[in-house]
Order: sequence, then C-alpha cells, then structure tokens
Amino acid sequence: MRGSAHYSAPPHSCLTLSCLVVFFFSCAAAMAFPPAPHYTLYGIVRDQVGQRVTAEGAEVVLLRGSAEIGRIVVKEGWPMKTALREIAEIHTGDFRLTPSQNLSISGVTAEQKPHIEAILAKHGLDKENDRSGLRLNALSCVALPTCGLALAESERALPETLEKFEAVLDENGLRHDAISIRITGCPNGCARPYLGEIGFVGKAPNKYALYLGARYDGTRLNRLFSPSTTIDGAVEMLRPIIKRYALERQSGEGFGDFCDRVILPADATFHSVGTPVAA
Ligand code: SF4
Repeated sequence: MRGSAHYSAPPHSCLTLSCLVVFFFSCAAAMAFPPAPHYTLYGIVRDQVGQRVTAEGAEVVLLRGSAEIGRIVVKEGWPMKTALREIAEIHTGDFRLTPSQNLSISGVTAEQKPHIEAILAKHGLDKENDRSGLRLNALSCVALPTCGLALAESERALPETLEKFEAVLDENGLRHDAISIRITGCPNGCARPYLGEIGFVGKAPNKYALYLGARYDGTRLNRLFSPSTTIDGAVEMLRPIIKRYALERQSGEGFGDFCDRVILPADATFHSVGTPVAA
C-alpha cells in the first residue's frame, strides 16, 4: 500500500534481474524486427502522374482518374474498370493505390508495357493524366452517402468544384500550375484538407470552412480564411486572389505560400480569420 509503513522496496537483486529481462527482450525484438529498408521516394506529395518512373527495378504507369478521382468504376466514356480488368489479365506486377488517390500499375515488364498502353488507348484512357494541375492534385474523402459522419458533400461535390476553379485558373493562365485542393465532408479531415493550399471542410449541407495557405510539400498547415461559405461563394472569394497570384507571385512561389505571405492576415490562425488586411 502506498505510504504504508509496511511498504518495503524490492531487493536490489530483484531490480537488476528485471532490467536484464527487459534488456534481453528488447534485443530479441530488435533482431526480430530490423529497421525498415531505405526506399527512394518519388516526390514528396505528388505522384509523378503521367510519367513512367522506375521503382524497384521495373516500369510503373501512374494513372489519375479525371472524373472519378480515387474511384475505379465504369461510366459512359470512362471505362476505367473495364480497362483495368483487361490489363489484369496480362499484367504480372501489382496494382497499387497511392495516398494521393492515384493508381500505380507497378512492375510492368518491357514486353507488357506496349500492350498495357494499347489497352488504355483502346478505351480512351491514355490521356487521363493530361489534366489541369489543380485536378491532378485534388483529393476528397467519400462523405455522403458512404460516411455516416458527413455534414456536407465531398466526393460528389469535387468534380463540379474543380470545373469552377479550372475556369478561373484558365482565365489567369494557370491551368498547368500544381495547386493542391482538398475537400472533406466533416472536420475529421480524412482527405487531409488542412494540408491543402485550398482546403474545404464540411460544416453543414453546402457549407464549408475555407482554409488557405498550406505549403504544397505538406510542411505547413493552412489557416482559416472563411468560417462558412458555399463552393460558389469560395470561387468568388478566390477569383481576385488567384488573379493576384498570377500577377504578383514571386519566382517559383506556390499558391499556398503566396496566400500565406500576401493574403492571410498575420494574426489569422487555424481557428480565426484574423484582422482583415487592406487589398
Ligand atoms: S472527413 Fe468526415 S465525412 Fe469525410 S470520410 Fe472522414 S469522417 Fe467521413
């Protein structure tokens, strides 16, 4: 009993034996689970969509779904599932789903590669990666109707959201600039919206908190820009900011870095929009 006069410390030899046992099992665990081997990573955030990269000694074909980001389905004019089934019949490597919601056809041999590319071309999927920089970097969670925690649409809202922002980017010559946009149906943030240069977090039907200013490489979180807006409202709020970004950005400056430097008030935080700054 703690504080009892009857308490007596274990003998010194007992402690020594315990330490030896712990040390023994620590060594055994270290030998059973050696450190993970060193892997070369291709890019920090963005998969090298559209490129044939070499990983683990074999060819890799990375695919980005244009309409159905993160989904393998059959839709009119977009038979991705059919094409992948045909590829699976000849492919001896792997299919890997990446954390950026891309699909990697990995371990492609030199003999298989032209056949796989021919299958993609036959189904009109060989231009999948020729998309806007915004679309290639977009992520969403499933939200409605799959997730019972969703407060707003996410996956189903993303295609229309991208179209609206792409129109603004086109107006400003930014179609191929890599800008990360992420949307989730609730603050749990399963698609990592707090690391998006543009982040939407669902609060209620068609209402989102809008975050700006994360660093593209994921080393800085974004900050609150609007506590509640619609997608259309966000497009109108960001239209002049995107225009300023096109005209005023520094060499090599990402959209998130520009928002952090120029747009967001100094006292804006993750929870507060801060004191408005003069345009
Ligand atoms: S972010 Fe929320 S709505 Fe989206 S999948 Fe996660 S828990 Fe569900």
